[in-house]
Amino acid sequence: VILGSGWGGITTLKHLDTSQYNVILISPRNYFLFTPLLPSVPTGTVDAKSIIDPVRTVARQTPGEVEYLEAVATDINPETKTIVVQHKSHRLAIGDAFIDQSEDITTEVKYDYLVYSVGAKVNTFNIPGIQEHASFLKESYDAVAVRQKIFNAIEASRLLPKDSPERKRLLSVVVCGGGPTGVELAAEIKDYIDQDLAKFIPGIEKEMSVSLIEALPNVLNMFHPKLIAYTKSVFDTQHVDLRTNTMVKKVDATTVYAGVKDPKTNTVQDVEIPYGTLVWAGGNAQREITKTLASKILEQKLARRGLLIDDYLKLDGDDSIYAIGDCTFTKNAPTAQVAHQEGIFLADYFNKLSKIDDLQYELSKPEITEDNKSKLEARLNRVKAHIRPFHYQHQGALAYIGSERAVADLSWGTWSTVATGGSLTFLFWRSAYVSMILGIRNKVLVCTDWIKIAIFGRDCSKD
Ligand code: FAD
Ligand code: NAD
Repeated sequence: VILGSGWGGITTLKHLDTSQYNVILISPRNYFLFTPLLPSVPTGTVDAKSIIDPVRTVARQTPGEVEYLEAVATDINPETKTIVVQHKSHRLAIGDAFIDQSEDITTEVKYDYLVYSVGAKVNTFNIPGIQEHASFLKESYDAVAVRQKIFNAIEASRLLPKDSPERKRLLSVVVCGGGPTGVELAAEIKDYIDQDLAKFIPGIEKEMSVSLIEALPNVLNMFHPKLIAYTKSVFDTQHVDLRTNTMVKKVDATTVYAGVKDPKTNTVQDVEIPYGTLVWAGGNAQREITKTLASKILEQKLARRGLLIDDYLKLDGDDSIYAIGDCTFTKNAPTAQVAHQEGIFLADYFNKLSKIDDLQYELSKPEITEDNKSKLEARLNRVKAHIRPFHYQHQGALAYIGSERAVADLSWGTWSTVATGGSLTFLFWRSAYVSMILGIRNKVLVCTDWIKIAIFGRDCSKD
């Protein structure tokens, strides 16, 4: 059983020899989402449909049969090797009316091996008001919600006089969290306002503001200091209001309440930042199901920031569960690159296990000749010798920072680093992301989106 249809789960499925296993993939999301381009969706730079690939399309391309269950795992029993799964039909929005089509069904699924790749949820740090008032940028529907909120606020502001503080508030977009998600989203929104909205609503570029709030002294902390400084300078020229050393403490329907730390005096001053659209990009936290699973295994008692796994990605304290991606805590950052490489490793590992099984079966046959036996034993030893621990190969980090500029931190171990930023890096960023997109169909769709907006610009429809 594979749990999750994200980077970890889908990569495992793609590389697994499904003719050797009975595979069931369980996920509430019936598609894979190419997250690196999600920040481009709210502004329409890329269409949401262009970066999703249905699970069943992926499954069809594998050699064996794969069953897909649209469900969420609510409990796992490692003793009986069973998962409790629940299907919840979505509510359909038609006009103003919500038609509840829920058909909740709960069942149990048994596994021999479990690939646990449910990712992480957005960390709100239990800050009051975030869950109720902020949007996230984790799923494709989040991107749609951010767009709708921006347009709702713009359209509402048109009814108010120009000098009204309420109009100013509505036209303020506030993004909290200066990791790559927050930086890329703030950059995309600012581009959209300056390059496209300004044509449809003249003057809006002077009225609208985009702020990025970060608790630490810098944004993009995992990048080379040169690139952090470059990002700041680009944001400065583009008039993105960068507020570092600013820790969000509370949020209500109209205002972010934060503390601004003066690094020289270490004093904190309270500020109020009114907003019309608020997006929270504060990083990752573990899902409830992951905490529940960890609580059932003694060796996972210390697994506060994610599941603990060994060098073969097997869960510490359980011989049948393998965990990959954002639900684990390892020395690697929670990125798509890591989850992808882990998925490839795990599929290859299972493919080898099935070969070992076949060879052992052949060797157990009573009629086997001595000559055949030694050949099979040699093959068995070769396959076993090829099972080596997982080793992550970092290919570098890339981020879009606006006005057709990107930053790239390309480091190979400790011996070589290329830190580069600018328009050429932007072209490199685009080509690198196209090569990362998992299917040819999505590669074509994304490139078509880019060509479309280069010719016609982005539109200003609300839905
Ligand atoms: P996910 O891809 O999140 O997949 C988890 C899956 O599990 C989903 O299908 C979900 O529906 C399913 N699931 C959830 N709960 C359950 C449950 N209870 N039962 C069953 N299934 C469940 N990384 C990079 O390396 N480069 C980038 O440029 C980059 N850009 C990003 C941009 C954004 C906006 C975001 C949010 C992240 C980005 N990342 C990037 C990080 C990257 O997306 C994650 O590290 C990656 O998705 C982790 O893969 P995963 O398989 O662990 O989890
Ligand atoms: P993150 O953890 O990288 O950044 C979250 C930021 O929010 C941090 O800088 C943190 O200091 C800030 N923050 C937290 N609480 C705050 C508060 N109360 N007030 C103000 N600021 C606060 O999260 P992310 O950007 O969503 O990224 C998650 C993971 O996905 C990371 O591993 C990242 O590398 C990866 N990712 C990569 C890319 C890329 O490579 N282009 C893009 C997006 C995400």
